[in-house]
Amino acid sequence: MAAGAIPATKLAYFDNMWAVQATATLLSHLETEDGRRALILDSTIFHPQGGGQPADTGFISGAASGFKFVVEDARLKDGLVYHYGSFENPQDDCVSIAKEGEEVSLYINPQRRDLNSRLHSAGHLLDICIRKMGLSHLEPGKGYHFSDGPFVEYKGIIPPDLLQIKSKELEKEANALILAGGKVSAPVLSYNEAAECCGGVLPSYIPTDSAPRIVKLGEHPGCPCGGTHVADIADIRNLTVTQIRTKKGVTKVFYSISP
Ligand SMILES: [Zn+2]
Repeated sequence: MAAGAIPATKLAYFDNMWAVQATATLLSHLETEDGRRALILDSTIFHPQGGGQPADTGFISGAASGFKFVVEDARLKDGLVYHYGSFENPQDDCVSIAKEGEEVSLYINPQRRDLNSRLHSAGHLLDICIRKMGLSHLEPGKGYHFSDGPFVEYKGIIPPDLLQIKSKELEKEANALILAGGKVSAPVLSYNEAAECCGGVLPSYIPTDSAPRIVKLGEHPGCPCGGTHVADIADIRNLTVTQIRTKKGVTKVFYSISP
């Protein structure tokens, strides 16, 4: 099936952020313009890279033909999730053993997903702590939740002489909330419900005619998000604020978590 004719991939992790195995239907296998192999399915539990969260890796196997496709990367483009990788047995590729319309089993790497979810949830927890600490003038911007130096970014500054103390306070607050715990959910809501859930307003990039997905950590205000998260705030387990940097009107909070 040509990519243009394929219906949008259902993002199954929207409904269940914790499934690491699932079944789906293979809709297309193709070689992309950059020479990479990709599988497209009707639905997926693989989180494609985006929103500051890395892609899931794992494998996809065919129920009938028995192929195994190792997924090294996943990307969302025009509503389709491209699972990039290679067939474990190169022969499978040559004879195109994978049949469109065939049922496939999906397995994501659970350790990598758990780390990504903890790192992403930790980013939201820092947003909550910033508000609780009376630093609401800091307006949340983008986050980078990759393990090689994750950070959350804010528009606004913290005076240089307060950076040290705020860093300590932030870390203390975050670990207190982790210790207290609280259920994490990420429902898709109507625009008005979503706005209410997020403290009254939604960021301007959310279209008013959309139904945004809102991540909510415990009873704290929610935030629009398409990522995957831990089931409970306690599952973040620990958080270290490694550095706060303020430069050119932007504050970056670098953090880490340990296993
Ligand atoms: Zn998020």
